[in-house]
Amino acid sequence: MTDLLKDTVSKYERGLVFVYTGNGKGKTTAAMGQALRAAGHGLKVLVIQFMKGKKYGEVIAAEKYLPAITICQCGLDSFVMRKNPAPVDIELAQQGLNMAEKALLSGEYHLVILDEINVAMDFGLISIDDVVNMIKNKAPSVDLILTGRYAPPEIIELADTVSEVNEIKHHYAKGIKERAGIEF
Ligand code: ATP
Ligand code: MG
Repeated sequence: MTDLLKDTVSKYERGLVFVYTGNGKGKTTAAMGQALRAAGHGLKVLVIQFMKGKKYGEVIAAEKYLPAITICQCGLDSFVMRKNPAPVDIELAQQGLNMAEKALLSGEYHLVILDEINVAMDFGLISIDDVVNMIKNKAPSVDLILTGRYAPPEIIELADTVSEVNEIKHHYAKGIKERAGIEF
């Protein structure tokens, strides 16, 4: 733990709940920036990525260089059908939710990031009520970030900070393809 953290930690009454939502680019990477910042102060971070199985740069970086950040992927490297998901997609998302519940109760992590959990709710892989209850029952000190488009009003209501990333432009509209280090 850094000295700067020791100075401020006693002032924290409770952990905060953040939501990064909206249709523009920058939600997952904003959460990863927060993870990096927390890790710098000696805090332990757990990231659970819903509906993702691809080796994203952040997964490789955490494994190679960032022992304070653990990333678990609870999805396949394939598209999930909205409102008609495969049983395996539901099973994996439920596993992610169970893991999140445990991590939020255990006090083992200072920061928990549930990447794309808003999409998992929107796609019907996990229930909004279960996520609401998980947030209400979390250990008081842990900070929590939920990312993804379509954040439901029930989650926005519970959050302390909600940021909406709006698309003004996206390079995909110019036909520029996704690439390593930018999109994944
Ligand atoms: P990033 O992971 O780059 O921070 P994000 O988390 O905000 O992006 P998501 O909504 O999770 O983006 O979308 C996943 C992928 O879709 C990302 O690779 C991102 O580059 C791409 N994307 C984001 N916004 C748009 C958009 N407005 N139009 C098309 N593709 C987008
Ligand atoms: Mg994202």
